[in-house]
Amino acid sequence: MKSILEIERLRTVFGSGRETVTVVDEVTLDIKEGETLALVGESGSGKSVTALSVMRLLGGIGRTSQGQIRFGGRDLLRLPEAEMRSIRGGEIAMIFQEPMSALNPVLTIGDQLKEMIRRHTKRSGREAGAYAVRMLEKVGLPRAAEVMKTYPHRLSGGMRQRIMIAMALSCSPKLLIADEPTTALDVTIQAQILGLMKELRDETGTAILLITHDLGVVAEMADKVAVMYAGQIVEQADVFTMFHQPAHPYTQGLLNSIVRLDAGEGRLEAIPGMVPSPRQMPKGCRFHSRCAFAEERCRREPPLLKQAEAGRSVRCWLAGGQAASAVPGLLEVG
Ligand code: SF4
Ligand code: MG
Repeated sequence: MKSILEIERLRTVFGSGRETVTVVDEVTLDIKEGETLALVGESGSGKSVTALSVMRLLGGIGRTSQGQIRFGGRDLLRLPEAEMRSIRGGEIAMIFQEPMSALNPVLTIGDQLKEMIRRHTKRSGREAGAYAVRMLEKVGLPRAAEVMKTYPHRLSGGMRQRIMIAMALSCSPKLLIADEPTTALDVTIQAQILGLMKELRDETGTAILLITHDLGVVAEMADKVAVMYAGQIVEQADVFTMFHQPAHPYTQGLLNSIVRLDAGEGRLEAIPGMVPSPRQMPKGCRFHSRCAFAEERCRREPPLLKQAEAGRSVRCWLAGGQAASAVPGLLEVG
């Protein structure tokens, strides 16, 4: 399959001069046409900044200082802003955790949807209106014609997220970036939205970059997984391998927390400690202060991301050794 998005050694920094902090550090990712890649990690690990770097929506605070982002062969970081604007929302669509922030509160749903469709497809005003109604029906909104005349604040969170999906998919994007799309929704609605995304993906062949900290969502949606920690990718594998043979202690910790939840302990046991701040990145392995397997070398020398086997890479001195087989019970997860 052909790659649709290739991110290579991306580095994104915030601030300038002596205040410069690296938030995304040498991230390399590859998404093929029609594929879903989940980018996983705790908040503050650089997942959203990676997505915003792709969209070139870092605002005034961040900038990409190194790397390439190739989308269908074009290097997005070198495109004129006008060209980028037509890619955004058209060829690459994005949905966020809180759809309210992406919707315009003073325009009706219909006006926003039609404007989007007219800007990115060749439809006239009237055609755009009819198409918008069809898209709303497609995402399962009853009384679509009425929803068209409604303002965003009159709708529930689940309805707003459906509208965002309708908007995102109305231009048949080649890539959908979904940043915690179901995090703000309750469990039942969450399942409906994921089901809808899957259905539409299978129908349209849109590739998805799915950002989440929820491993249930990963298991449901993803073909491949990349785990991010403190701005770096620490492990990358296909979804089956990741769940059955996690090699990085951090991935094992994330998975362990759902094992405990399944075992009925009723509480998500997070890995003790916190993601280090980009202002005070520890020497050596960035995970060492939280890692049960840390040894002397880990505190001194940063491990490189190494290819362990085809399609799988790990950033850990012990990968393939002790750490890889150290978590009992993981084989039951799936
Ligand atoms: Fe743990 Fe060392 Fe591996 Fe880092 S390199 S994850 S500290 S074992
Ligand atoms: Mg985020």
